[in-house]
Amino acid sequence: MTVCGKKILAGLLGLILTCLAGVAPAQQARDFSKIELETRRVSDGLYLLAGAGGNPGGIITVSAGADGVLLVDSQFAPMHQKIRDAVAKISPQPIRFLINTHLHGDHTEGNELMAKAGVLIIAHDNVRKRLMSQRSSPAANSRTPTLAQEALPAVTYSDSITFHFNGEEIYIVHPDPAHTDGDSVIHFRRANVIHVGDLPSSLRYPTFETGNGGSVHGMIAAAERILKMAGPDTKILSSHEPPVATVKDLQEQRDMLIVVRDRVLSGIRAGKTLEQVLASKPTAEFDGRREVGRTPVQFVTELYDDLSRK
Ligand SMILES: [Zn+2]
Repeated sequence: MTVCGKKILAGLLGLILTCLAGVAPAQQARDFSKIELETRRVSDGLYLLAGAGGNPGGIITVSAGADGVLLVDSQFAPMHQKIRDAVAKISPQPIRFLINTHLHGDHTEGNELMAKAGVLIIAHDNVRKRLMSQRSSPAANSRTPTLAQEALPAVTYSDSITFHFNGEEIYIVHPDPAHTDGDSVIHFRRANVIHVGDLPSSLRYPTFETGNGGSVHGMIAAAERILKMAGPDTKILSSHEPPVATVKDLQEQRDMLIVVRDRVLSGIRAGKTLEQVLASKPTAEFDGRREVGRTPVQFVTELYDDLSRK
């Protein structure tokens, strides 16, 4: 395979071994032994692994073929052996590459074990920068664990990078800051599949983490960018429910974000407090099916805080 990209920065893995520390309390409470991974075929040579009976760690996309195996995201560390076992049932080839869609622990916590198994980890420049800074100040973001040195992405990119692997053109592009400022969108062009990580796609209330550079404006812009990349039949793989979405789902999610953002913004401009905006129920017609692990109150509060900053 060959790799070509713009302004690629290759980071060197450190030689100092450190211990995995700082796992978030919510993850400590989770019983990973009860989570079984289900393998679904998405296209020729392309699969997704999702947690049956609940998908707390988000999906993993697997490209398998003659060149080996490439994964998108590494999930939580306790899921590592289950991931390897599921991949081994798909292909006898070694796992060679791992792309992190962004820095959150449910997408990166398995990095260390993958790196120790010889897997090369790729992510946006800001994923490595932020994970490195959290190593020196681990309390900065409790949603992301402090990773061992070798778990940091070994190859980083700034704008885009393309893998030619397993007969597939895997185009990885960084949108402007959206869910975080280190998001990657992964387009499997031959298969007509786009893995969007935690960018908007699935029909639940999305999160955007301002502490790591995210914003609702960025989420809407990222949705527009993905829609431009997609065709009418493109499958959209999102990290959480439902794992396989359609372009129509993505359009609906973008439209919902615009409507609710504008309502919250007009409330802020009218001088309303958060409580007053919440009382106006700006998400009313979208509630119900979008309340998957996120309440309207959480979503509107995040919007209010984000839009109040500007
Ligand atoms: Zn995330």
